[in-house]
Amino acid sequence: MQVIRLPVLADNYIFLLYDATQNIAAVVDPALAPPVLQRLNILNARLVAIFNTHHHGDHIGGNQELLHHFSDLVVYGGAEDRGRLPGQQVFLKEGDRVGFGDRQGEVFFVPGHTRAHIAYYFPPCKTGETGELFCGDTLFSGGCGRLFEGTPAQMVNSLGKLRNLPDETRIWCAHEYTLNNLKFALTVDPNNPDLQARHAEVKALRSRQEPTIPAAIGSEKRTNPFLRWDNPEIQKAMGTQDEVRTFARLRGKKDLF
Ligand code: ZN
Ligand code: FE
Repeated sequence: MQVIRLPVLADNYIFLLYDATQNIAAVVDPALAPPVLQRLNILNARLVAIFNTHHHGDHIGGNQELLHHFSDLVVYGGAEDRGRLPGQQVFLKEGDRVGFGDRQGEVFFVPGHTRAHIAYYFPPCKTGETGELFCGDTLFSGGCGRLFEGTPAQMVNSLGKLRNLPDETRIWCAHEYTLNNLKFALTVDPNNPDLQARHAEVKALRSRQEPTIPAAIGSEKRTNPFLRWDNPEIQKAMGTQDEVRTFARLRGKKDLF
């Protein structure tokens, strides 16, 4: 399975999953249809699945138009998003499986950004493959999604599931927010050498207009303050030893950054 990144709108990524042996594709969070259709044309591939993570317009905007082009296209999304995802046919819960080509994805229920948000994790199935995580607006590189419909406790629990994945897992998050996230991270965790190095790397990438996605879980665990609610340095900076309160204060500061 190949993952193709399609940058759209101001800072969104649509991800196209491509299986060359069967000449099929699936799309994660199609904000728009035309860039997806154009790429499918180049690949001469048939679209078999839409994997939605949540109901926001910049993640589902292309659903309807794509459904018009492919009659056997299946729309997957969270069970709690019933009624909010155009054309949804499959209602997924924590632990459910989704198939694409020779890969099997696992579903994580990750409420916080929205109350129904899910993530898709495709573990490696043969040597040479990496795990691929599609986490929508839950985890970003260097940051996390805003809490529109959830609580800090819910988000800590959700991010905790993603933090448990193997270090080499690639994180395909839906927005290119990394540089700004790391600028904020440096204000709360200025002495972290891994964070300083990641910031330098990302600054260089962005100055060449290159993407910072995918990131890797292992690097995020060392650099992303929103995965470090139990780290003594971060807790000290937030003035509390309570994990959920540490996270909540971080999120509150970032909202104002
Ligand atoms: Zn969103
Ligand atoms: Fe979004």
